[in-house]
This record gives sequence, C-alpha cells and structure tokens, in this order.
Amino acid sequence: MEQITVKASQSSYKVSVGAGIRHKLAAFLPKVYSNIFIVSDTSIAPHYLDDYAASLLPEAKVTKKIIEPGEAAKSKDMYFDILDSMFEAQLDRKALVLALGGGVIGDLAGFVASTYMRGIDFVQLPTTILAHDSSVGGKVAINHETGKNLIGSFYPPVAVVYDVDTITTLPEKEVRSGYAELIKEAYIGDAAFLDALLSRKQLDKENQNQLIQDLSLGIKVKTKIVEADEKENDLRKFLNLGHTLGHAIEAEAGYGTFTHGEAVAIGMLFALELSEKRFGADLQLGEFRSWLERNQYPLQLPDLSAERLIARMQMDKKSENKEVHMVLLQDIGSPVTEKVDHDTLLQAVVSFLERMRSV
Ligand code: ADP
Ligand code: ZN
Repeated sequence: MEQITVKASQSSYKVSVGAGIRHKLAAFLPKVYSNIFIVSDTSIAPHYLDDYAASLLPEAKVTKKIIEPGEAAKSKDMYFDILDSMFEAQLDRKALVLALGGGVIGDLAGFVASTYMRGIDFVQLPTTILAHDSSVGGKVAINHETGKNLIGSFYPPVAVVYDVDTITTLPEKEVRSGYAELIKEAYIGDAAFLDALLSRKQLDKENQNQLIQDLSLGIKVKTKIVEADEKENDLRKFLNLGHTLGHAIEAEAGYGTFTHGEAVAIGMLFALELSEKRFGADLQLGEFRSWLERNQYPLQLPDLSAERLIARMQMDKKSENKEVHMVLLQDIGSPVTEKVDHDTLLQAVVSFLERMRSV
C-alpha cells in the first residue's frame, strides 16, 4: 500500500492506495462516524458497496443512495434529490458522506457534502483510474446548462481510500481514459515515470502492484502542484496540459464520442507538437504516438471545423480576451503557459486535423 498526504489550507488528508483495502475502511477514517451516507451508481454498487459497508463499524447507521451512471447525474435536479435523501436520513453536522465511484460520483457527492448544513465530512472511494485526478485537489462540482463543472467549490475530502481491486471491472475505454491523465502527469513532472510508461508494452489493469505505483506517482505530481497552488491561480494550470484542444474536441465531437482522457490524449499530441516546434526540445513524440497506438487510443478524428474548435479554445479558462493560452513543455518536466496567436493556432489546428483524419 502507498500513502500520500495532501496538505490543503484548512486541513490535510491521506490518500491510501492499495489492494483489498475496502475491507478495512473504518481504519482509514479520521474519526468515528455514527451516521454515514454512501453515494454510488448502479455499475459500481453491486460489486463493491457491500464490502465497503461491511467494513464500517457495526453500530454506524448507513444509508445508501444508488443512482444511474453517467455525466447526466451531475445535475441540479440530482443535487437536490440527494440533499432530500440526506435530510430524510437525518444526517447531522457530524455525519459522513462516502463517494464510491469515479469522477461523476466524487464531484457530485463532494459538492452535496460541501453544502449540506454548510458542509459535512466526505471521503472519496475512487473506482476508476481517472478518479486519481478528480479525487485529489478538492475540486467538487455539478454541471450547468452553460457548461461543465460551473457550480462548485473547493472542498477537500477528509480521506481518499483507493482500492485497486475495483479497477478489475473497469471497462477498457475507461482504463485508457485514466492512463491519459497519468501520462500527462508524467510529462509535467516525472521523467522517470514517463520512461517507465512509454517503455511498457500494454496497459494492464490486472497488475495490481504496477497500478498502485502508477496511481501513486501520478497523485504525487498532482499533489505537489495543488499544494503549491490550491485555488488555481497559476501553477495548477499546468495540469491542463492537453486540455485546451482536448476539451474542445470532447465538446465538438459530442460528449460521449471520446472519453475525457481519450480527448486529452489527442490534445496532448497537439500540445507536444507545438512545444517541440516552439522550444526545439525532444519530447519523445514518436514514442508517445506509438504508445497511444498500441494501447488502442482512438486517434482518427471525425470531420471537425478548425474555426469552431478555436472558438471553444478561446473560451477555455486559461484564455484572456479571446487570446488562447496553452500549457506547453519547454522540456519533459518543465511546463509553461504560453500565448498562441490566432494565425499560428489556426495553421497548427488545420494541419493537425488533416493529419488526424487520415491516421
Ligand atoms: P471518471 O470521471 O472517473 O472517468 P465516471 O464516473 O465518468 O468516471 O465513470 C465512468 C463509467 O465507468 C461510469 O459508467 C461508471 O459507472 C463506470 N465505472 C466506474 N468505476 C467502475 C468500476 N470499477 N467497474 C465498472 N464500472 C465502473
Ligand atoms: Zn482532465
């Protein structure tokens, strides 16, 4: 098992990553809770919820809220629906919310916990590889019709208990999605981890020791950055490598066409190409492309409009006055935020789309 402590301004919390630790949940909680509310979804709960519930103290009152899977759950309606269930379960300020699932459950249950009676404790129990990212750093949110994650807060969990046993049932597409963020973290802050990932033949969700190591290394890179910049003023932007074009592709292709990580992987290819051009560094682009190919990342893009993608990139949170700012790498482990002027961007996107249509 690996443990990483994350220091947030108000508190700090431990992220424990191990195999089978769902059977010992009570031991990882910072205190004894008498009223516990578990939020999960119908793809996850049948596999793992009973194990987690059974590992709580027998005297605790446990209420389960199991919802339909999918991003649509991060809605205002579901937010109030869960609050209603929490009042019904008579949770008081000393109660605990457990978020058992991937990013959707973590964001939703975390946001509910952050506002129920002005905030009660919550613990993340991630069941996806991608959730190594969303469960660390304290961002919780639901969606608004205007865009994703627009209603939210910074609200760190009191603990993260990450049982890699739960990854065995994760669909391959989701494994790819999660590893895209891991290789992103390697590129941003851990050259040795990047070498290890790139030299590996195939992603392997069955190799638990390797999973524990990979998740911990990714979490360490993220932790270092969020500790230095908890509220996203500067450094935290570096975690956005690959996301400026990635988010635009995700939205333009239609949510669900690519998973988040698959879109980020394509966005990273673009950002690394631009970086090599601008800084002349060797970012192992050939190796990265081959890693994506042998792990069956979807690299063929549908017919997307460069203008529409750029319009979306201009709305990115890093952009200022419609000027696109992207995270680029001066070298492996040396991210910077750079302004990319409109002509350069247009030319780069058009050329990239052309090449990605014919892969
Ligand atoms: P993330 O944002 O972390 O990728 P999501 O919450 O979007 O995660 O979950 C992706 C999908 O995978 C959802 O349909 C969810 O129900 C399903 N899922 C999550 N964890 C598991 C698991 N361990 N086993 C099987 N399916 C899972
Ligand atoms: Zn991401």
